[in-house]
Amino acid sequence: MSCHARERRKTRQILVGTVPVGGDAPVTVQSMTTTKTRDVEATLAQIYQLASAGADIVRCTCNEVEAAEGLANIVPRSPVPIVADIHHSHRMALAAIEAGVQCLRLNPGNIRKAEHIKLVARECKDRGIPIRIGVNGGSLAPDLYRRHGDRVTPEAMVESAQRELAYFGEVGFDDVKISVKASSVPLMIDAYRLLADTVDHPLHVGLTEAGPPPDGLQKATVAIGTLLAEGIGHTIRYSLTADPVEEARAGRRLLEMLELRERRGLDLIACPSCGRAEVDVIEVATAARAALDDLQIPIQVAVMGCVVNGPGEAREADLGIAAGRRRGHLFVKGQVVAVVPEDEMVGSLVEWAGVIHREGVAHALAAADSSAAAEAERDRAALLDIRGADANQAESRIEQIRERSGGDLAAIGES
Ligand code: SF4
Repeated sequence: MSCHARERRKTRQILVGTVPVGGDAPVTVQSMTTTKTRDVEATLAQIYQLASAGADIVRCTCNEVEAAEGLANIVPRSPVPIVADIHHSHRMALAAIEAGVQCLRLNPGNIRKAEHIKLVARECKDRGIPIRIGVNGGSLAPDLYRRHGDRVTPEAMVESAQRELAYFGEVGFDDVKISVKASSVPLMIDAYRLLADTVDHPLHVGLTEAGPPPDGLQKATVAIGTLLAEGIGHTIRYSLTADPVEEARAGRRLLEMLELRERRGLDLIACPSCGRAEVDVIEVATAARAALDDLQIPIQVAVMGCVVNGPGEAREADLGIAAGRRRGHLFVKGQVVAVVPEDEMVGSLVEWAGVIHREGVAHALAAADSSAAAEAERDRAALLDIRGADANQAESRIEQIRERSGGDLAAIGES
């Protein structure tokens, strides 16, 4: 299956405050605060952290009157739109609307009285506030659960969303995005696929209760990434058992990796290392990340273990370094610009990253040490001489295989 990440499924668009979701809008990142919403200063501090880590929209729980009062102070001071998370009490939804939030999240499994749902929807309609219908596999309405064979199924989750949509429709409200989260990766993927085939509303995609990193990160990435690659999803949230800054960062990184959002920071690529490596690639890559991450330079940097294959394999990188004969070959777009001692590899990377950032790639290429390419070629040739072009000595192995296949291997085949 080819990757359709950049071709989103066509949907209508809603506005969460000033942030468009759906239609041709860029996919956005969400996260949720873990502070008590009534603690305005602590919540705002966390919202600022989340926004600078990549969150475009932040959700806060609105579980008590004091939380709604907190939201009244948080919303005007927040750098990003605020979604109030509502469970169980429609009164909290009305209080959050009064507080001025830019969106509500309602769980249809928890607020089930039709008159309450319609009251909230009517209020949102009057004030131009969108709602996310946030279906959760773990809190389906009991009758739906029973009707679908006492199991949580994609059909049951989508039906829950449709039922809520129908209530909203009765009061003429349609300013909606939808999520159908589950904690099982296959169930969640199937539910979203079915939902995308059923409605044309923007979809908020997430795997619920993914757990702590690294497993939680991996689970959420495979689930969200699969859907995004199919063109499904307009706003995403990682639900990690971790500092929510990790969620925002992971969401942003995923979108950058899929080229759905422009890269803001470093993209470090590094070879996995192999028997040919001339340096401890893990150590150099880790040190390079630590040194370059802080600079917030949106370039791709490659750390390669050997000069034999490194510069060629990473020729698309803006900047890279490959190790050989206790030296580092620095290259820009595959062209060697300097040869430095091994212990200066990381420092030189930082220096050249700065040159590229300030002056651009063309300037960096023009500033290349004129003897570097020839020197690098000598190192490369010398290593090839010592190790051979073929690290696995495939040529001689193949010869051996052929020799034997004419003799004892052929005999085995015949027996
Ligand atoms: S760049 Fe060199 S060390 Fe790294 S994996 Fe490739 S051959 Fe091995």
